[in-house]
Amino acid sequence: MAEPSQNRSPNTSLKNSRNHSSTRQSLQARATSLAISGTGIAIIAVVIGTILAGYFQFGDFSIASAIKAQQQNFVLWILDAMPFIFSFWGQRMSTMVAREADAIVSDQTEVLRAKAKAMEKRAAHSTAHDALTGLPNRIELNSLLLHGIEQSRHRAEKFALLVISIDRFKEINRTLGHSEGDQVLRQMVERLQQVAQYPMSLARVGGDEFAIIVPNIDDQKDVQTLVRRIKDTLHRPFTSGEFPLAIQVSIGAALYPDQGEEAELLTLYADLAMRSAKTSNDRFAFFDSTMAKPDTRQLKMVGELRKALENNLFTLHFQPKVQAQSRQLVSVEALTRWFHPELNQVPPEEFIPLTERTGLINELTYWVLYETLRQCAEWKNEYQRIIKVAINLSSQTLLDPELPDRVSAYLAIHNISANQLAVEVTETVIMADAARCLQVLNALTELGVEVSIDDFGTGYSSLAYLKQLPASEIKIDRSFVRDILTSDSDATIVRATIQLAHNFGLQVVAEGVESEDIAQQLQKWGCDILQGYHLARPLDPVELMAWLGKHETTHQAAFTAP
Ligand code: C2E
Ligand code: CA
Ligand code: CA
Repeated sequence: MAEPSQNRSPNTSLKNSRNHSSTRQSLQARATSLAISGTGIAIIAVVIGTILAGYFQFGDFSIASAIKAQQQNFVLWILDAMPFIFSFWGQRMSTMVAREADAIVSDQTEVLRAKAKAMEKRAAHSTAHDALTGLPNRIELNSLLLHGIEQSRHRAEKFALLVISIDRFKEINRTLGHSEGDQVLRQMVERLQQVAQYPMSLARVGGDEFAIIVPNIDDQKDVQTLVRRIKDTLHRPFTSGEFPLAIQVSIGAALYPDQGEEAELLTLYADLAMRSAKTSNDRFAFFDSTMAKPDTRQLKMVGELRKALENNLFTLHFQPKVQAQSRQLVSVEALTRWFHPELNQVPPEEFIPLTERTGLINELTYWVLYETLRQCAEWKNEYQRIIKVAINLSSQTLLDPELPDRVSAYLAIHNISANQLAVEVTETVIMADAARCLQVLNALTELGVEVSIDDFGTGYSSLAYLKQLPASEIKIDRSFVRDILTSDSDATIVRATIQLAHNFGLQVVAEGVESEDIAQQLQKWGCDILQGYHLARPLDPVELMAWLGKHETTHQAAFTAP
């Protein structure tokens, strides 16, 4: 896929050494030119000294008296030596300066190089690891799986992928609080690490989910033995504050190559097995094909998502958001489209969750970001239109420490100003790890990127809480907007939300506006921005330009009409 390059030049070290040698040469040249000037001054001093000495000794300014003075006056002999001393000293100085410059420059380069390496290492580690537990995250698990597959294929071995989920973890979080929940997770990791030792790999793949890759197994019995050991080690109660806490887990397993030969498929199979384990007596299940049969469509998609990314098969549509009163375009929201050769158009509501579960979401989002900004640049250059854009962010991407750097790099590549970009984040995503989200959102707003809270109303969080976020806009979920004319409770919710959001200084977008009646009602309630099929459907980039041309004429006509 047209994934942008990292802008990291392979010629950096070559350039460094070129810079380095040119600095050295220019210092050396300056020392040499100082020495030449010194020698010149010394020669002039010799000439003047000789003429003056001739005058004082023999009474005239002739060449003859100057020659005589040179022959007889031994002070002049010392003066004569000066140009030689200067040129010799100059040569030495220039060599010494060059050597010192060499030493300083290479010393600094070493320090800088060491610093850059350490930073790179830290960045790579935090992208691949979970902040709470330090374990590899889902994205890293995917790389580990790809590596495991290659190795096992080469050695003709089997391996197992286990997915472990803590039962009723949300309840623990809700009743005991997030910090107790984190405590339980840390204890969980300690215990799992005792069992899943090298060459096994342990990863945290979700809030309450872990995965273990178990290399080189003979058959299912090996896996069952390991599962028994895991259950034994978790049997001892956990501690939450002073209280003991019983923790139960459900475990699913999938085997390579017997059950799947691709990383994404194995992840999905182990996941399905874990879900089925939740309802079984011993809370453990191997994947079997009956679990996957009902959803062959999903399996087909998982197998092909990576290929679609690599072959650039995703496209973007853009849905306008318009000012409620004037109906002028405010911005557009980028929505991803995937046309599958057999399944035809696959809705994002189907494939986005799959990319999230298989660790492909960051790659997809960075493609969306890059492509959206590229499109903005094209609109600007070819149509002279500056259009504000918003992209949707999933939680994994929001928690990726690389995100702010990528955003600023891609903005720079396409020469797009940061205030032309917004990110839409759902409130449930933010609630999952509010502290870390806040850090990233702050970093984005510092760049100048706007933050919008998507699907507002579906996550049960209060506006007072969300006010602490650096957001400038909320989008009322379309499930409330749809029924404002028929449901009193939805009407009350939407109306109150608009007022409250305004009190907090937030702009309000109503999404899913499907009729003029709804649009006018929202307009009356003071809603700022409208989005929905009634205003415009998501459009491809060329359709958007056509829509804009037509839309502007209609609305300008409406405006200028008496
Ligand atoms: P969303 O962010 O709430 O996007 C709005 C969805 O509502 C879009 O569906 C849009 O086509 C649809 N919509 C717009 N106006 C109306 C209307 O008047 N009535 C109705 N019934 N629907 C309307 P779409 O494109 O199928 O996207 C669905 C969801 O998929 C999005 O919901 C978003 O959560 C997710 N999504 C799409 N593209 C991306 C992406 O690039 N990254 C991420 N993370 N999520 C994406
Ligand atoms: Ca959205
Ligand atoms: Ca939405």
